[in-house]
Amino acid sequence: MTHRVAVIRGDGIGPEITDATIEILTAAGAEIEWHDVPVGLDAEALTGEALPWSSVSRLLELGVVLKAPLLAGRRTGGVSVCQDGVTRHHPSINNALRRELGSFVNVRPVRGWQGISGKYADMDLVIMREVTEDMYCGVETQIDEDTAHATKIITGTASRRVAKFSCDYAERYGRRKVMAVHKANVLHLTDGLFLESVRQVVAGYPRLQFEEQAIDAACFLAVKRPHIFDVVVCPNQYGDIFSDLAAALVGSLGLAPGANIGEHTAMFEAAHGAAPDIAGKGIANPIGLALSGALLLDHIGQSEAADRVRAGIGELLESSRALTPDLGGTATTREFTEAVCTATQCV
Ligand code: NAD
Repeated sequence: MTHRVAVIRGDGIGPEITDATIEILTAAGAEIEWHDVPVGLDAEALTGEALPWSSVSRLLELGVVLKAPLLAGRRTGGVSVCQDGVTRHHPSINNALRRELGSFVNVRPVRGWQGISGKYADMDLVIMREVTEDMYCGVETQIDEDTAHATKIITGTASRRVAKFSCDYAERYGRRKVMAVHKANVLHLTDGLFLESVRQVVAGYPRLQFEEQAIDAACFLAVKRPHIFDVVVCPNQYGDIFSDLAAALVGSLGLAPGANIGEHTAMFEAAHGAAPDIAGKGIANPIGLALSGALLLDHIGQSEAADRVRAGIGELLESSRALTPDLGGTATTREFTEAVCTATQCV
């Protein structure tokens, strides 16, 4: 059945990798009707606002979104969304999108690839990063010239919600273990509450193994014994840092897909940024967004097409064929895209 999906083409390399991704998903058999929604520079050119309410309401209506990276840091003072005379301020465009769409978890699968990831080729984990609270709520105070404070906010409600999502995901995708990552030995109240909330939820999933690791130990173990990780659930800040570490271990942030999930919305995006230094040169690597597209296909029940996307990309990585310069190759985005499209049809 054809599914209606919103697409944000993004800034910098965004439009190039969006075109490539749509081509790859289509070649793999995806049945999607794409609806462009202007956000970022596109929206500013049309309306003067980076995130007009008309775009937010269209994204909410469509519910499923493929999002290319946006130039997040081009303005100071953040982004405002005006709805019916009420204005909400957000620290950045990406933050604004996640909040307006009600995302509560950033899902970051990280897997190794033969031919690219060396001794981490067998790494296969999924990081669940809570995204509504922790140190990133923007509650900062300048106490005096020499002192600034930031407030860390953790609630049992948000912690249980991300824990439940993680356990449901683990069961749905046949994963065996959930690990809570924290620093409760130092932050007794905040991380202590997060950890206790995850423990409560996991108790209701007897088929899943449960483990707890402090964030510093988790980073050490990710490097030394990556196979012990399966589903990892973290508060916002640790999830942010741990997911980049894991992506680097398997070879490149450019290979890392992601999803922002809310109660009624799902927005799929690569982990990397808008790469303005190579925008328009035709050499951007679309793998991160294409793999995010595969997650989108899983989400809308088109997993066969998703598997073809992953297999096609895997085949090129394994044989080091048609790789873009960031992966040590000389192919253009177009050459890579054509090679993946052909590969998806041979698997
Ligand atoms: P970046 O990820 O855009 O770029 C870092 C380096 O990686 C650059 O050398 C770039 O050329 C390279 N790179 C990134 N993606 C690539 C790809 N697909 N193919 C080939 N090379 C790639 O990070 P940055 O330079 O810190 O950020 C640039 C802009 O993107 C900033 O405005 C930042 O705020 C924004 N950003 C957006 C998102 C998002 O929309 N989710 C995420 C991160 C950064």
